[in-house]
Amino acid sequence: MDISSILQGGYQHPLSRSWQGRRQLTKSMFMYPIFITDDPNASVIIPTLPGQRRWGVNKLEEFLTPLVQKGLKSVILFGVPLNCEKDERGTPADDQNGPVILAIKKLRSLFPSLYIACDVCLCEYTSHGHCGVLFADGTIDTEPSVDRIADVAVSYAVAGAHCVAPSDMMDGRIKAIKRKLIDEGYGNKCTLMSYSAKFASSLYGPFRDAAGSAPSFGDRKCYQLPPSAKGLARRAIQRDTAEGADIIMVKPAMPYLDIIADAAQLAPDHPLACYQVSGEFAMVHAGAAAGVYELKTMAFESVESMVRAGATLILSYFTPDFLDWLEA
Ligand SMILES: [Zn+2]
Repeated sequence: MDISSILQGGYQHPLSRSWQGRRQLTKSMFMYPIFITDDPNASVIIPTLPGQRRWGVNKLEEFLTPLVQKGLKSVILFGVPLNCEKDERGTPADDQNGPVILAIKKLRSLFPSLYIACDVCLCEYTSHGHCGVLFADGTIDTEPSVDRIADVAVSYAVAGAHCVAPSDMMDGRIKAIKRKLIDEGYGNKCTLMSYSAKFASSLYGPFRDAAGSAPSFGDRKCYQLPPSAKGLARRAIQRDTAEGADIIMVKPAMPYLDIIADAAQLAPDHPLACYQVSGEFAMVHAGAAAGVYELKTMAFESVESMVRAGATLILSYFTPDFLDWLEA
């Protein structure tokens, strides 16, 4: 056999196998998505998302203390208002007594070293369940949408969020949020993580159960990207980079590894996040339950594929598991 044929000598030992990654998986690469509801004492199981719950503000201490002790470094908060008056423009999104703003303040005081990101969108708070403000005919009215979304983002920054992460996919919102953060004195105090390439995926089902955010009519295909849209995704990544995003995100992750790799090449100087979404997480669990593979092995394979593609930050419901599985 030719010398050039032999590769296995290079990875015959567990340690030399660990050196094959360009980047090692670490606990600090994981950001844990958390659902915060407006019943302060809630601890409600989400049946479609194994092991995950909707939490009330009063339960965050007992829920997160053991995770922080195990090395949890960051969370991303999703508001799940169940008792508020929703309207056309998502007024409850930045209610000072709403679950997200209360949770930011609570977490900042409980866990000074925990990095707190907040998802920013209107769909959990609008009467129609869409991510922006609508014209009478049901189409997106872009300017008031980005204005409103920027206001919500600034409210979260003022409350103490280290990072705001708009998931709405409205055109121009990154520039609008960055501008408003700067104008309000938070330009150097709050990171802007853009859901840049967010696809209209079938994998969001369990999240919608968890967050109660299914639209009351139509779908989100006019603002989320078509699954086939490689070129559009590349344009969105470049646009958001130019508009002032500090972190670029691709969502979902596993069916879009090529887009993660593209983003790593298009925005090589930005941290690159990907979201292992609810349906991906549920799929890994379902396959393990069906005996297709072992859960931990597949969970590792899934996130290692994302790191291999170029991700430096992974939003995942597996975060608590990886705090147990990883040494550092
Ligand atoms: Zn939304």
